[in-house]
Amino acid sequence: MSKQYYTTIGLEIHAELKTNSKMFCGCKNDPDEEKPNINICPVCMAHPGTLPVINKKAVESVIKVGLALNSKIADFTEFDRKNYFYPDIPKAYQISQYKYPIVSGGSLKGVDITRVHLEEDTATSKHDKGDYSLVDFNRAGVPLMELVTEPVIHSAKEAGDFGRELQAVLRYLGVSEANMEKGQMRVELNISISEDPNKFGTKVEVKNINSFKAMERAAEYEVKRMSVLLDAGKGDEIVQETRGWDENKQATFSQRKKENANDYRYFPDPDLPKLFLSKIFDIEKLRSELPELPEAKRNRYRADYGIKDEDIESYIVDQELGSWFEQVANTLKDKEKVKTASNYITSDYLGLKKINLEAKLPAIENFAELIEMVLGGDISSRGAKDILAMIVINNESPKKIAEEKGLIQNHDEGSLKEIVQKVIDANPVVVATYKGGKENAIMSLVGGVMKESKGSANPQIVLKLLKELLTK
Ligand code: ADP
Ligand code: MG
Ligand code: ZN
Repeated sequence: MSKQYYTTIGLEIHAELKTNSKMFCGCKNDPDEEKPNINICPVCMAHPGTLPVINKKAVESVIKVGLALNSKIADFTEFDRKNYFYPDIPKAYQISQYKYPIVSGGSLKGVDITRVHLEEDTATSKHDKGDYSLVDFNRAGVPLMELVTEPVIHSAKEAGDFGRELQAVLRYLGVSEANMEKGQMRVELNISISEDPNKFGTKVEVKNINSFKAMERAAEYEVKRMSVLLDAGKGDEIVQETRGWDENKQATFSQRKKENANDYRYFPDPDLPKLFLSKIFDIEKLRSELPELPEAKRNRYRADYGIKDEDIESYIVDQELGSWFEQVANTLKDKEKVKTASNYITSDYLGLKKINLEAKLPAIENFAELIEMVLGGDISSRGAKDILAMIVINNESPKKIAEEKGLIQNHDEGSLKEIVQKVIDANPVVVATYKGGKENAIMSLVGGVMKESKGSANPQIVLKLLKELLTK
């Protein structure tokens, strides 16, 4: 039996900011440029004598993030040089922030934020060429924010939830695409376990994580790896190191032991002005202009629509789907109708989208009409699913399709009553069995009516009429 250990996690998250130009030069900031070394200039190539100019939009983006996290926005902030040698950093230093980050404090999903600062991204290296490597400078100098959390996360799931929420916040603010597969959002997982809840264990840092799922798996893997070592009395084999995540093996591996006491020799960059943010930005105006954020939207959806939490999450993650759903809800108005609509959207529409890439959201009025028809008994739920599968491709009127395909159900009690009576008269044995106590026999009569009506009868109404007529 393994002992009980307490897990501690702190995250360091980088996100590329969505600006037109790079952080310190006029080069295009284009994460989708595939040709190498297209968006470069003497500044981001570190030619001697060039000088950086601060991208105001990037600073504003980090302030917005800080406001969204209820953080403190610094009055005074400055940029520092972080010195190190590597081919992807042409100046041999990265412009970053050390003592005076733009943002400090704040929280998200109950996780305390240490700081958010602004820096420049590095170039990208390609090491798959054999005996040489290639460097692409398109990414060099792209504005990059780094958010650091306090070591207050206690499980893989909490870490995943925080990461996903931050991604949504960055997208709602419009400051980053935050796509992890594209490297626009990069997570470093710091994790330790300890027997004593009041003491931290030795932490390791896990890199090359390319999805939140991978982050959760990496955290679980590390908890397991370290627990096994501690259980075996080999705690001294847990060392402070950088580990990588191997997606194929679903395992972490040691990359660099003991961060050889990194000395980056930080100092304020003398080429850049110090910033007094309150003199440059109207912070309160920025605060008042923040868009609705995921948590506020969640609460509004809960209060206004009474739909399931899983449904709400689908609308939080996919903003387009969310605003489409809101329009559907405004059209249908009635709460029960909205609930049914939400079921069709999250289970049926999203299901269709998974199997058919061509599936698109239909026009609001067409979808609303479909919901009205199924709730009004004009079509069966089977029919509604079939019609939905068609309108996500051709966006036609459900009524028109239902008429063409003979999917309209007869729910006119007067005309159905005649057929029901006819079937009762034609099946005296079944009727006797039913009246003798075998309640299931009624289903055979329902089948008879369906057949007689060529499938057009609404089965719920048929059942109701049969029961009425047979108890007389
Ligand atoms: P380093 O100097 O090694 O970069 P920091 O103190 O800057 O360490 O912290 C980096 C990240 O590691 C932060 O997110 C922090 O919350 C987290 N962290 C610090 N100590 C621990 C620990 N014992 N276990 C888990 N995470 C930790
Ligand atoms: Mg660190
Ligand atoms: Zn440039």
